[in-house]
Amino acid sequence: MKVVVIGGVAGGMSAATRLRRLDERAEIVVLERGAHVSYANCGLPYFLGGVIEERDALLVQTPEALRARFRLDVRVRQEALSVDPAARSVRVRDLTTGDEYEESYDRLVLSPGARPFVPQLPGVERAFTLRDVSDTDRIAARLDAGARTAVVVGAGFIGVEAAENLRRRGLDVTLVELGEQVLPPLDPEMAAPLADELRAGGVRLALGTQLKEVRAHDVVLDDGRTVPADLVLIAIGVRPDVALARSAGLTIGPRGGIAVDESGRTSDPAVYAVGDAAEKRDGLTGESTLVPLANLANRHGRLVADAIVGRPVAARPATATAVVQVFGHTAAATGWNEKRLRAAGRPYQALHLHPGSHAGYYPGASPIALKVLYDPTDLRILGAQAVGADGVDKRIDVVATAMAGGLTAPELADLELAYAPPYGSAKDPVNMAGMIAENLATGTDRTVQWHEVSALRDAGATVVDVRTAAEHARGAIPGAVNIPLDELRERTAELPDGDLVVHCQVGLRGHTALRLLAGLGRDAANLDGGYATWSAGR
Ligand code: FAD
Repeated sequence: MKVVVIGGVAGGMSAATRLRRLDERAEIVVLERGAHVSYANCGLPYFLGGVIEERDALLVQTPEALRARFRLDVRVRQEALSVDPAARSVRVRDLTTGDEYEESYDRLVLSPGARPFVPQLPGVERAFTLRDVSDTDRIAARLDAGARTAVVVGAGFIGVEAAENLRRRGLDVTLVELGEQVLPPLDPEMAAPLADELRAGGVRLALGTQLKEVRAHDVVLDDGRTVPADLVLIAIGVRPDVALARSAGLTIGPRGGIAVDESGRTSDPAVYAVGDAAEKRDGLTGESTLVPLANLANRHGRLVADAIVGRPVAARPATATAVVQVFGHTAAATGWNEKRLRAAGRPYQALHLHPGSHAGYYPGASPIALKVLYDPTDLRILGAQAVGADGVDKRIDVVATAMAGGLTAPELADLELAYAPPYGSAKDPVNMAGMIAENLATGTDRTVQWHEVSALRDAGATVVDVRTAAEHARGAIPGAVNIPLDELRERTAELPDGDLVVHCQVGLRGHTALRLLAGLGRDAANLDGGYATWSAGR
């Protein structure tokens, strides 16, 4: 069997190497347009920042090494121009010589990735994108030529990583984002501390505005501002590269990626597609979605190799689990966020908590803001987000695993997780999220969200701050009455009739206050995530 793989990086090379491990006799040809295969796209921003010092470290494999170990016929600077599915043949151009040739196949794997989206604006040809090693080389050359100011357009994962790393290189960096928050995959109250972290790291933020024009040493934004920029990097998202799929007449899915079945097979049974170019099945709805992330590309590369040798496979629906460093913070997310659930009109329950990354008595603990979203009817977990200095990735990975296993939110309370003081707490933050969900499901707690407080107050509810007087003095919800929790039993007579919203700093003392009041026959709601979430969201 002869298998041709187009695209020699995440998905493509995973497919090629797995295939060799499964079939020693297959003829495997990998065609790569660029000069490098198996390079670490995810490491590119860190090379620009000097965190990864050696350029060679980005080049995880070479064609020679792949030939030696896997007997792969890896050809760089070979561009697949078109696919003829009837003839099972790929037209290829050798970019070094300009020669063209036909390469036949029994099975074809497409992993051509995605292309950065670049808006058509005056001067935009001066801007850079960051997708591969050549892009990185061009940006590095501009840095070496003495660039001192940079504008990064788009505050998604790559934009934020690029901004941080350009800052690390000493540039004066402005991050421009059309939305009102950084990191759109997160909800606004979760992203707010990251905006603070970016500002603290010296990145200027221009939110709620977009690029209008790129000029020699500055850019013009649509709010009329000009911002100095010796270097402009556009990172506003990617589009699946479907040029070859179109040439082959393959079905393009509703999201603009190559349509594939659960085994990665396209509308042509001899052709498979993986990675950023291929559509995925959404974990929540089962509908087509695009998730341009490396984990999926690598896993699905392996999966199509299995499918090609005849093993039964079925790709698990995608939940878009992702993590990003933002200076001293980490942000991670899985599944759907609240914005998306609300926009889709799906019922959901949100919960926020701010536990320590590990036991408070052990040095170095820092708070994690953790948010879990779940279906209020069947309690299925719909998504989670976490932000903090430490332990964030672990918690989101646990929730992602729980989602994959079909656990409900309350069942998180009963997970048996590793604990010692330097690493966690005997009740891990994920357990605590489950306990909150369980309390909500059983009516042991009732919460209101940070964005509901002002409407409730306007409707006559009394907000009761059960933190200490000192905490209250440091910052409070306007109009809140301060009755510290330890005095609440004695001072209930001070509470007016009508609705009560109790709150503390993070929600835990608020819950205790709610239970205390419930025991005394007073109904109250607890502000979910407490003052910490409210103040981040306002
Ligand atoms: P790619 O890895 O992009 O490989 C596609 C290859 O196909 C390219 O080398 C291209 O030259 C080649 N090709 C395209 N067309 C042709 C053709 N016609 N002929 C021959 N060759 C062709 N994901 C994460 O999960 N975590 C991260 O931290 C992360 N960081 C990232 C940082 C950056 C700067 C970038 C750019 C991406 C990052 N990603 C990250 C995304 C991740 O790299 C991609 O999801 C993954 O590489 C997709 O794999 P792929 O095989 O689909 O495409």
